[in-house]
Amino acid sequence: MSFQRRVVILGASGSIGQSAIEVARALRERMKIVGMSAYHNQTRLLELAKEFAPPMICTRDAISANDLRKAFESHASIPTIVHGEEGLRRLATLPEADLILVAIVGTAGLKPTLDALDAKKNLALASKEILVMAGEEVMRRAATSGSLILPVDSEHNALFQCLEGRDRSTIRRLIITCSGGPFRTIATSADLRKVTPSMALRHPTWKMGSKITIDSATLFNKGLEMMEAHHLFNIPMEKIDVVIHPESIIHSMVEFVDGSLLAQLSHHEMTFPIQYAITYPERIHGPCSFLDLPSIGALHFEEPRHELFPALRLAREAGISGGTMPAILNAANEKAVELFLAGNITFPHIWHYVEETMNRLSSLPHPTLEEIMAADEEARRMVLHLYNSEFLS
Ligand code: MG
Repeated sequence: MSFQRRVVILGASGSIGQSAIEVARALRERMKIVGMSAYHNQTRLLELAKEFAPPMICTRDAISANDLRKAFESHASIPTIVHGEEGLRRLATLPEADLILVAIVGTAGLKPTLDALDAKKNLALASKEILVMAGEEVMRRAATSGSLILPVDSEHNALFQCLEGRDRSTIRRLIITCSGGPFRTIATSADLRKVTPSMALRHPTWKMGSKITIDSATLFNKGLEMMEAHHLFNIPMEKIDVVIHPESIIHSMVEFVDGSLLAQLSHHEMTFPIQYAITYPERIHGPCSFLDLPSIGALHFEEPRHELFPALRLAREAGISGGTMPAILNAANEKAVELFLAGNITFPHIWHYVEETMNRLSSLPHPTLEEIMAADEEARRMVLHLYNSEFLS
């Protein structure tokens, strides 16, 4: 028996959004796009809206909404055009949608995600910030509404598959795999100080946006993923480990108390976890290619180098503290990455500023959404303060 998912894509012009569009084109009878939003690329939003004819689209602001309305004049089917956060919240609760794919970078996806859960929508979750910042609240609302959260990040999608039907008390560890980023084999901290933005933007296996590519180079991406896994699967931070696996073929593993290790393997294509979330709980043949293990030959594993790359340690500390500390880490990292990409600070400064911000700010337990957003802003201000006192004094 086959069914069609009616999907809203929040963040249709980003890299996850583009992979979702690929899946929608390949699986037209399975995936109907009923709404989409784009912030940066209005031309692309217009093209996609003409191709898929969703009943509602959301753009950045009132001006671009007007431009889009003009562009649709004399077009056969004109969608409802909404804008801004209010527009995202309308899209996230669209009556005709049953799955909301959240692929917005940054904190803009937080409120729409909570609205979607309250409206009993299932989520395909790609935005990391949401679980890192507000994991407690998101999981509580999902439990109340009975919504499914299907992870689209390859690692969590792998864990989700390995954990299906397993008794939580039999789990010894979650092992998240990490490509190691472009500086996996770099030798010293002096080498890391010479890293430029263009060096850090060259990721060995995944093609992604610039923020997440820098996070993959510092390993903060993996740190955020540890905290996401902690909330998503209700597993203590102490039981979540990371192993470096440069080939990115195993996307993560679950170790059970009897010594058995389950892994999920596939090519590193973002279309795979998206398709899985769309067709779940069914599996069908889609645009993803099959693995040819003999041609891959060997898979390698290494211990992360914690002294050179302190991001995993900081993420573990933030996850164990809980409260607003994960939001503080996340915001400090975002601000520091911005400064690094602008050429203002060195690469190791990113870790340094995050650690210093975590040391100087204290965590608030069981925060409200407002308290989370306040901690986020405070952390960003602290990074700027650290930068100003170091470079401008
Ligand atoms: Mg990932």
